[in-house]
Amino acid sequence: MELSKQNKIKNFFKRYGVMMIAGAFVVAIALAVGLTLPATQQVSTVNLDFTSPMLNAEITKDYSETELQFNENLGRWEIHLGIDFKSDDNKVFSVLDGTVLSVENNSLEGYVVTIEHEDGFTSVYSSLDENVLVEEGDTVKGGEQIGESSATATGEFDEAQLHFTLLKDGVEVDPNLYIDLENK
Ligand SMILES: [Zn+2]
Repeated sequence: MELSKQNKIKNFFKRYGVMMIAGAFVVAIALAVGLTLPATQQVSTVNLDFTSPMLNAEITKDYSETELQFNENLGRWEIHLGIDFKSDDNKVFSVLDGTVLSVENNSLEGYVVTIEHEDGFTSVYSSLDENVLVEEGDTVKGGEQIGESSATATGEFDEAQLHFTLLKDGVEVDPNLYIDLENK
């Protein structure tokens, strides 16, 4: 009696043991995913609400990591790790809440505002005119105007335009991946 009971238990584990172990794995994986997913989503870009750096703007030169594009002002072919915009009102806006890291000026890029955001993002606005509306250290809101586009970036433009760059962890990324420029 006792022996057959033991055998029954043995047989039960022989038959269902693998399934039980597999089941335990599934539960463990589900738990691990459930615990890590909310944590990663908090720092992911999903919750960052980017806005366009210009409204009702035309993209005059798109982002391109691999395709060479001709720069007429410098007379050379180059990749273009940013997006050029042109709009009627020339107004330039911060794409996200952030802190102004620097306001600089040089002859090739014109007035350049660099803004630091959360999650490792930095946005750079080149070819602004001299009446920049923000200073280093200022806190800005997404959609807040920071200046106006101009032709100060003589290395690229003959007319008022914006050269916009987005960096993630210090590396240029395609703004199209983060900003809905269709509804600009
Ligand atoms: Zn450009």
